[in-house]
Amino acid sequence: MDFEAERAALVDRLARREDLDPATEAAMRAVPRHRFVPADKRESAYQDTPLPIGRGQTISAPHMVAIMTDLLDLREGDRVLEIGTGCGYHAAVTAEVVGAENVYSVEYHDRLAREARETLADTGYGDVSVRAGDGKEGWAEHAPYDRAYLTCAAEDVPAAVVDQVRTGGVVLAPVGTSRQVLVKGRKRADGSLDRERHGHVRFVPLQ
Ligand code: SAH
Repeated sequence: MDFEAERAALVDRLARREDLDPATEAAMRAVPRHRFVPADKRESAYQDTPLPIGRGQTISAPHMVAIMTDLLDLREGDRVLEIGTGCGYHAAVTAEVVGAENVYSVEYHDRLAREARETLADTGYGDVSVRAGDGKEGWAEHAPYDRAYLTCAAEDVPAAVVDQVRTGGVVLAPVGTSRQVLVKGRKRADGSLDRERHGHVRFVPLQ
């Protein structure tokens, strides 16, 4: 199976359909998604669907990662907090845009955190920092962040995550339980979020 050709074809389709920002498109072209999915799912790595990665968790569909990367309006050098590392794929896409050393990711399951660290190191994104723990607390040590996003859905954006984003920074999160909406919030000087809704989405729940 020619993974490189499959990935190129997938990103061609996505770029056309979603009108992707050039930086997002380049990141999607660069990250080898097949290295992040379990070995027995590899032949499906370049289908535009979520796939199971163990522990009842999933790797997000490529179009969702691309759309979120676009909405976050990332710039090289931005410091980014991710909640829900999973297998590390989305963190690698973010790292392509902002630089791996600027990405901080929190994963609830120890084992997934460990595996993500290994895969990120093997694929050249070893400078991404991964912490096993509860993402509801964010990762205060490296705050303030320019951008933060969740890849699991909560009833609302966790307060600690909002606290750790700078004024003018952006938070992106699936919000809701059974029916979820992708919410983009820009942080105002008073600490509240100026919110926009970006359609219905389906993510695993925040634990
Ligand atoms: N970012 C992944 C998608 C991961 S799925 C990708 O690249 O495709 C969502 C992840 O959120 C799961 O791995 C799940 O274990 C994690 N998660 C759920 N609740 C969490 C919490 N409270 N803190 C941190 N991670 C959490």
